[in-house]
Amino acid sequence: MNATGGWDRLEPKLAATRNRVSALESDPSRRNSFVAYTVERDSAYADLDGERLLMMSGYSYLGLAGDERVVAAAKAAVDLYGTGNHGVRALAGTIPLHEELEAEVASFARREQALVFGSGYAANVGTIGGIVGPGDTVLIDKYDHASIVDGCRLSGATVTRFRHNDVEHLERRLKAADPRGVRLVVVDSVYSMDGDIAPLPELRAVCDAHNALLMVDEAHALGVIGEAGGGIEEHFGHRHRVDIKLGTLSKAIPSMGGWIAGSADLIGHLKYAARPFLFSAALAPAQAAAALESLRILRREPERVTHIQTQAQRLRTALNQAGIRTMASETAVIPVIAGSDDAAYDYATACRKAGVIGLPVVTPAVPNDLARLRIAVTARHTPADIDFAAEAFLTAARQTGLI
Ligand code: PMP
Repeated sequence: MNATGGWDRLEPKLAATRNRVSALESDPSRRNSFVAYTVERDSAYADLDGERLLMMSGYSYLGLAGDERVVAAAKAAVDLYGTGNHGVRALAGTIPLHEELEAEVASFARREQALVFGSGYAANVGTIGGIVGPGDTVLIDKYDHASIVDGCRLSGATVTRFRHNDVEHLERRLKAADPRGVRLVVVDSVYSMDGDIAPLPELRAVCDAHNALLMVDEAHALGVIGEAGGGIEEHFGHRHRVDIKLGTLSKAIPSMGGWIAGSADLIGHLKYAARPFLFSAALAPAQAAAALESLRILRREPERVTHIQTQAQRLRTALNQAGIRTMASETAVIPVIAGSDDAAYDYATACRKAGVIGLPVVTPAVPNDLARLRIAVTARHTPADIDFAAEAFLTAARQTGLI
């Protein structure tokens, strides 16, 4: 071991990772992280080590990954603008495509203005840090995404967590919070590991009663909930408004990037106050063009959203009827609960043998004994694919003793 230059101090951390990872990677049937899949452009199937398997754990909810119109838009942007923007948005990095995309996002989100960031992660960190700081309080759901947690930590605000989707607990936390400063409540619209939806009407009421701003992360809601995929406000019939809406361009929208939408005043502020926006390179032309084209397709083809909703419900019903637990899922994301981490790995292996890819999510990403396969239905899955998947999940469940 090199004992100079501080490496000796780092070594225990490197060793801990090596040990943890080698235990997982030495058994090929349990190797689920960082596996390279080649997903077919016009189906829901993927190639894994030469085997053709039905992908049931993807994120391209609208089935637009590889869509020829999106690909053509990205190619045209590369022809016109090249491959990168060589700078931050505030200096040389802005191109007309960014402004077009921001106008489209604002209109989609029904807000005055929008800003796009290099990723959803950057959008959360930048927005939270631009809104709260020392002396302010930010209250987050226990299951909120890591980028929300990191944004809170970096902001320097007092961070308080409340139990998942428990509005009474949030209210108690708000009552106990410092009465001075900004109060910001941040939740996911749809929870990425559970597929349940935040209780917007109740959250809005509690935030109003305690003078708090409400921000939602629509990463798994855009294109998925609401009649036309408009997200949580549309899901609840546009009867309740959030103060700040945020999302990614990397899931239902097959690109990269993040967005934030709100009043002109808020966006004007974040342009200067959101550090990942101000100090990190502008979204690449191909990414901006792919996102813009995908949002336009979503507007024109709301049947994709209906398809996701009906097929997800069919799959959930088939699983539940056979005795498989799917928690409170009511969206495209369906957790298939296996129990222990070992049970989840074994179940994933059995599913693969039955012809489907269902990726395990284990502790500490999920609570003890709630290890699961995170299944997601997309607009690419035909009804026949869903039937095949249901059969494979049930066969594997019988083989591993899950049911
Ligand atoms: N928010 C949520 C709820 C997410 O699930 C993710 C991605 N897993 C992000 C934000 C980050 O988005 P991106 O991958 O675009 O950085």
